[in-house]
Amino acid sequence: MESTLSHYFGYDTFRPGQKEIITKVMNHQNALGVLPTGGGKSICYQVPGLMLGGTTIVISPLISLMKDQVDQLKAMGIRAAYLNSSLTQKQQKEIEAQLRKGELQFLYVAPERFDNAYFVQMVQQLNIPLVAFDEAHCISKWGHDFRPSYRDVIHKVFALPQDFTIVALTATATIEVQKDIMDRLNINKNDEIKTSTKRRNLVFQVNPTYQRQKFVLEYVKKYQKESGIIYCSTRKQVEELQEALAINDIKSTTYHGGLSNKEREAAQNDFVYDRVRVVVATNAFGMGIDKSNVRFVIHYNMPGDLESYYQEAGRAGRDGLNSDCILLFSERDIGLHQYFISSSKADDDYKDKMGEKLNKMILYTKTKKCLEATLVHYFEPNEKLEECEQCSNCVRENKTYDMTNEAKMIVSCIARMKQKESYSVIIQVLRGEESDYIRYCDYKELSTHGIMKNYTTSDLSHLIDELRFKGFLNEYDEILTCDNSVKSLLSDQVAIFTTPFKRKTTEKVNINTVEGVDRALFDELIAVRKQLSEDLSIPPVSIFSDFTLEEFAKRKPESKQDMILIDGVGSYKLKHYCPMFLETIQSYKAKI
Ligand code: ADP
Ligand code: MG
Ligand code: ZN
Repeated sequence: MESTLSHYFGYDTFRPGQKEIITKVMNHQNALGVLPTGGGKSICYQVPGLMLGGTTIVISPLISLMKDQVDQLKAMGIRAAYLNSSLTQKQQKEIEAQLRKGELQFLYVAPERFDNAYFVQMVQQLNIPLVAFDEAHCISKWGHDFRPSYRDVIHKVFALPQDFTIVALTATATIEVQKDIMDRLNINKNDEIKTSTKRRNLVFQVNPTYQRQKFVLEYVKKYQKESGIIYCSTRKQVEELQEALAINDIKSTTYHGGLSNKEREAAQNDFVYDRVRVVVATNAFGMGIDKSNVRFVIHYNMPGDLESYYQEAGRAGRDGLNSDCILLFSERDIGLHQYFISSSKADDDYKDKMGEKLNKMILYTKTKKCLEATLVHYFEPNEKLEECEQCSNCVRENKTYDMTNEAKMIVSCIARMKQKESYSVIIQVLRGEESDYIRYCDYKELSTHGIMKNYTTSDLSHLIDELRFKGFLNEYDEILTCDNSVKSLLSDQVAIFTTPFKRKTTEKVNINTVEGVDRALFDELIAVRKQLSEDLSIPPVSIFSDFTLEEFAKRKPESKQDMILIDGVGSYKLKHYCPMFLETIQSYKAKI
């Protein structure tokens, strides 16, 4: 299992949930995986599919989604194809021939494909060990994106003669939706694997502003190099906002239901190939977009329920790097959704449900509690709530953070040093870093070495500054010493409060501080990736994710042996893409 993962995908370890799901599938048990967006759901059917042999059928809701996935698999040397109406007759015949010869490892289709008797008849003759339902929430009427065809396909799939396993995957399903999926796909209660919906790299913000346009313009100008999506609720708004961006010399593209297929495809390609960095879109955009380096998702209007919101916002940061999810909100948005619900032709039961969901969405915009915790609670009512310390509610100015524990750790670290030490040495010891000096002083032996390894350098300077400011520590010429008053602290007689400090958002602004990543080299690697992407017609992030390029720019590998150790480098990519990157790294090193 691990060797398949590293050979094809270049990853050493499974992410939470992946291995459990794959194990179920390998044991021939139908399974449901609920993993956050970007959590790596594709691997959950791709790895067993590769191991089982034959052709795995993947049911997927959108043409664009299939295309991206197939491109990515091909970029790893895996034989995959999709069948849908965008292909010519000739192309379809070719794929059919490959299928019949058993040459394809993965076949992606939309559920409607099963309406075609000819297709069903052909599929009946193939070796099919596994059928995957991607975006499985589309099965449920209680989901936010119900697609009747997704439900209708189920009995056609069950009617196939082969003895295959079924795996269903989704990111955004309430408990009710999960249950519905399991009932319909014949998945046992024990065969559901859920990991936390939490995605620590997403920084949620709610901004109740009357000046949405101004906010967007300023934001997009500030993050010049970053890609992002701005969702509006109507076409008209999409067009207005794009115009406003254009007037301000910001290039963007639009995507909405009023555009032709061709225009939409062009817009999506420009975005995925990093030719434009901003898309202004209605919610028609996105499900198919497999672009892992989306750094921000701004909602210009409030969506109608938290599932839609989380699904759309969750398109940010799929590569695990910090990204912003910002909801701009005005009271007027509420009226629009209320109108939609009351004028809908659905039955009262359904309207009530939608009304309830809308209320939860409204509560999200009004709550003073942690936004991430609020979202997690919506999907997983039983999960223990923890504040994220980075959303706009957690970092509110007038909010305080109890730093008594941290203060004790810092003070005891300083007290244990064998001589007076500087700011930077103390921070290094707390973070568990090593240096010649630290080794020389034997600070690695201290019990306090590394006790605050989860804190960034800037978190620690913030905490130490607070202690200085409050008179617990003294500083002279960069050297820190404890004041007598720390006794009261160590004996729990005082508590210390500070403003929230884990401000990942502000760290992102100053990109050069990201530890160890050589930004100049990173930019060169991005350029190489772009060139390669155009030459090969593969989206940039399918070549290597931003995360992998950051690792290159951090570790500056010198050989293929160094490179294979980096996450995201599998043997196919090593052979076909790495030489160009190695060359760039070498000539960069020669320059400096
Ligand atoms: P989603 O759950 O949203 O469908 P994807 O399957 O598209 O997520 O995966 C998101 C990203 O995470 C991809 O770039 C994928 O290659 C990467 N990924 C998946 N599994 C792992 C893993 N075990 N280690 C590292 N990266 C992984
Ligand atoms: Mg997916
Ligand atoms: Zn929070």
